[in-house]
Amino acid sequence: MGTNKRGLIMVYTGNGKGKTTAAIGQALRAHGQGYRIYIIHFMKGRDYGEFLASHYLPRWTVVRAGRDVFVDREKPAEIDIELAREGFAQAQKAIFSGEYDLVVLDEIIVAVDYGLIPEQELLQLLQEKPAAVHLVLTGRGASPELIKRADMVSEVVAIKHHYESGVPSCKGIEY
Ligand code: ATP
Ligand code: MG
Repeated sequence: MGTNKRGLIMVYTGNGKGKTTAAIGQALRAHGQGYRIYIIHFMKGRDYGEFLASHYLPRWTVVRAGRDVFVDREKPAEIDIELAREGFAQAQKAIFSGEYDLVVLDEIIVAVDYGLIPEQELLQLLQEKPAAVHLVLTGRGASPELIKRADMVSEVVAIKHHYESGVPSCKGIEY
């Protein structure tokens, strides 16, 4: 039920905390307006709060396309490449299905940066996506080409983070 004819390409990048949560916030706002939401987490396999919320939120689909481990940037495991590729195929299907109005490709920018997904394939998807579908992309390290292609780019800049003062990863805040 996307009310705009022109679906936007929105990017959240940068080194501070708030990219994925901004995407989820955008998705929740859209959901409240009746949009059908599809969120896919690349390189992550945890029970994130937004994943658990799908048990009771209608029109809110969350898919995990990764394991609950850090991917080795220099030498990603075969399974991490496979999961990212499969996830990308699933995301493409969702985008073209007509079943969703807003799709979040969470950490896809990192998956591209790590070489798990060829950047050319992502740029082609942005080029060919159905006009009405809104896309939200997140992850550190957005390339100049992606920035050029997006309608909106926000950079989250880290000023300070509670990790630095020893606060451990916390349920409900980090995941
Ligand atoms: P969030 O999911 O909380 O919005 P994010 O998507 O901006 O965070 P990612 O780069 O995806 O951040 O990193 C995920 C995890 O790393 C989060 O748990 C977050 O708290 C943590 N993190 C983000 N920025 C920093 C930072 N500058 N220093 C330390 N940890 C960080
Ligand atoms: Mg994130």
